[in-house]
Amino acid sequence: MKPRSDPVGEILESRSLDKKHCILCGIKLGAKNRSREHIFPKFLLRALNLWEQKLTLLNGTTLPYRRVVIPCCRRCNNQHIGRLDRTMAQKMRAGYTKFKNINEPLMFQWLSRILYSILYLELITPRDPRFSRRKILKKDFFRTLETAFLFLSSVRVKTHFHKPFPWSLFIFKTQQSADVRRNFDFADNPLSLTIALRANDIGVVAALQDNGAVKALGEGALGIRDTKKLALHPIQFSEVTARIFYAAGLINRVPKYMTVSSPDGKMNVVALPLQGLSSTPVFNAWRDEEYARLLSRTCRIPYEQLYHPGRGVLTFLRDESGRPKYIPVDDA
Ligand SMILES: [Zn+2]
Repeated sequence: MKPRSDPVGEILESRSLDKKHCILCGIKLGAKNRSREHIFPKFLLRALNLWEQKLTLLNGTTLPYRRVVIPCCRRCNNQHIGRLDRTMAQKMRAGYTKFKNINEPLMFQWLSRILYSILYLELITPRDPRFSRRKILKKDFFRTLETAFLFLSSVRVKTHFHKPFPWSLFIFKTQQSADVRRNFDFADNPLSLTIALRANDIGVVAALQDNGAVKALGEGALGIRDTKKLALHPIQFSEVTARIFYAAGLINRVPKYMTVSSPDGKMNVVALPLQGLSSTPVFNAWRDEEYARLLSRTCRIPYEQLYHPGRGVLTFLRDESGRPKYIPVDDA
């Protein structure tokens, strides 16, 4: 449903996806209103000294974080994205104990802001010629992109997300190392709209367009039960990331949303149940072999060391007797 007074829909219909228009409001950028916004907020880049770390796009291009900027008008940058970043900076600096009670829509907006920016970059960055052409921009991708844009617009247009929320969000306590460079990790899958970010003692993993399906699976089915009892080692965080990303990738429905603007100009987002009228399960079957390949990428450990047919996939979360396993990040 897209009523005529829908300010987000109007931008979507008329917008140009390029470097010359604001990523958020779609206005044409010129010398007077242009500003550049880092994809990873500066407070993170600064605190963890990430300027030279690299982001790899689906098209094979790698960019150092300091150069990963998105086109944004001054007004959106100052009033909306900047404000969101400042709030999040404050929350993250407070550390896990306070952060774990964060308002979910706020966290969601911030993760959307990062992931949408990356999707945007995927679209406007020329492909690395050494990289073989892959068909990544399919119809579903654009639908996903549109929804991501709609969600991100909630930083600009007052939005009420009805429950159940359109996303699944997980927050973990992670260990901090004396070596600052080990205190950051980032992973994303722009196709299934999943994102994971670890900074200091906070680890966040989310599926941004699953209508809560991954969360509803439960921690037992995801294999992350008892992780709340642990402060996770970086490799354990990579494992929970792989588990959640893999589960989100098994969803075989396209999530649907209804947006309705109320007379006061507020946007209402209602996530429609994934199950719908069909009785087929929402998730495809979990396959250890496939999961192990993804785990191998997130943990950067060879697949052969992780997966032994018949014996399942190696886990870093539990010891031999099945108890939660604490792995210290720094040697004592
Ligand atoms: Zn703007």
